[in-house]
Amino acid sequence: GPCKAVVNLFRKLKNEFGEDDGLHFAVAEADSIPTLQPFRNKCEPVFLFCVNGKIITIVRGVNAPLISKKITELVQEEREIAAGQKERDEVLTKQIVEDASRQLAFFFPNFGIKRTDQKVEKTLALIRPSLLKERRRKYSVLQRIKDDGFKIAMQKEIILSEEQTREFYKEHENQDYFPVLLEQMTSGPTLILALTRENAVAHWRDLLGPKTVEEAMKENPNSLRAKYAVNNIPIAQLHGSSTPDDAQKELQFFFPQEHTLALIKPAAAKKHKDDIMQKVKEAGFTISKIKEEALTHEMATQFYKDHKGKPFFEHLVTCMTEGPSVVMILTKENAVEEWRQLMGPTDPEVAKVTSPESIRAQFAQDILSNAVHGSSNREHALESIECVFGEIDID
Ligand code: GDP
Repeated sequence: GPCKAVVNLFRKLKNEFGEDDGLHFAVAEADSIPTLQPFRNKCEPVFLFCVNGKIITIVRGVNAPLISKKITELVQEEREIAAGQKERDEVLTKQIVEDASRQLAFFFPNFGIKRTDQKVEKTLALIRPSLLKERRRKYSVLQRIKDDGFKIAMQKEIILSEEQTREFYKEHENQDYFPVLLEQMTSGPTLILALTRENAVAHWRDLLGPKTVEEAMKENPNSLRAKYAVNNIPIAQLHGSSTPDDAQKELQFFFPQEHTLALIKPAAAKKHKDDIMQKVKEAGFTISKIKEEALTHEMATQFYKDHKGKPFFEHLVTCMTEGPSVVMILTKENAVEEWRQLMGPTDPEVAKVTSPESIRAQFAQDILSNAVHGSSNREHALESIECVFGEIDID
C-alpha cells in the first residue's frame, strides 16, 4: 500500500544524500518490539526521526512532501553541525547522547554496525585496590580506556569480601600467589567496569600485556600492567576477561541481572499507562517482555491465591478482571526489590505519606485498585513469570 511508495521515496533520498553516511532508514514492526508498544494497533504508519539515539520528530501518516522536507532539513542541519557552523540543540547535549549510545552499545551491541567481521563485544575490567587509591593514575587508566574506543557501559566500586574473592577466583585457589591476591582484593575498593567495543576482550587483554608484573616489565614495558604496577606489590593491578565466554560469566557475577513480574492493574492501565511506563523507564528497567491482556477470573484467582479467604479477596479479583492489564517482565540488577520500592506501600494513603514519589502515591485510586503489582520475592517472580509468559528465554 502507501508504505511501499514511501520506501521508494527513501531510496531516492538515500541516493541523493549518498555521501552522508549519517542517514539511515529502518522499518520497525511495532508488534514485535516492546519499546514500540505505544504504536501498536494503529493502522497508519508512523515515521520517527531519530538523531543520536533520540527521537526528535514524529510524522504520522504517509505525507510524502512533509517526510521529504523533514529529512532534507535534518540532513542539512547535521551537515552544518559537522562543519562547525551550528551548535546542536540543548536536548541533544553530550550527556544524553553519551547515555543513549552507552545503553545502545550494551543492550544492542551490533546496532548500526556495518557488515564486517568485527563484532561489538563486552568485557570485564577491574582496577584493583592499590592502584585505585592513587587517584591520578586511576584517572589516567580511565582516560586510556576511553582513548582506545571503549565505552564504559556499567561501573561500580565495591570492597570485595573474602567469600566473594574466593568465589570469583576459585580456579586460582591452589596457586602460590593466591594468599597475596586475597589480601590485595579485600584491602579496599575495587573499580569494576563493563566495557564495550569491537573485539573488546582481545583488545583489552592486548593493552594489559603479560599476566604478571614481572613478565610485563620484562617483555612489554609499555603494557598497562607494567606501567600501572604499584611499588612492592607483586600482583598486577588490572584485570581483563580471557575469552568472550569468561566475560559473560564475570559480568554476570558483578552485574547480575534479575527479572521481576510487574503488572499495571486495569484501572491504572486505562488512565495512567503512559505516566507509569515513563517512570519504569526513568528508573532504568529494561522491559524484557510486555503484553496487554485482560485476566480471566481463574487467572486472577491463581495470581492472588495466597489471599484466598480474606475479606477483600472477591473485590480484588473483580478489580483485576475489569479490563486489560499491562503485564511486563522487568529486568535490572536487583529488579524485584527496586520495583517494589518504585511501587510504594500497598495502601496508597500510606504511600502518599511515606513515599510520595512512588507509583501508588501518585496513581492509585484505593487499596484495591492500587495501580500496580510486583512480585514479592525472587521465587514468586520466577513462578509468576512462568505462569504468565510460559517458558522464558530472555537472557
Ligand atoms: P502488594 O504486594 O503490595 O500488592 O500486596 P499483597 O500481595 O499483600 O496484596 C495483594 C493486593 O491485595 C494488594 O495490592 C491490594 O490491592 C490487596 N490488599 C492487600 N491487603 C489488603 C487489605 O488489608 N485490604 C484490602 N481491601 N485490600 C488489600
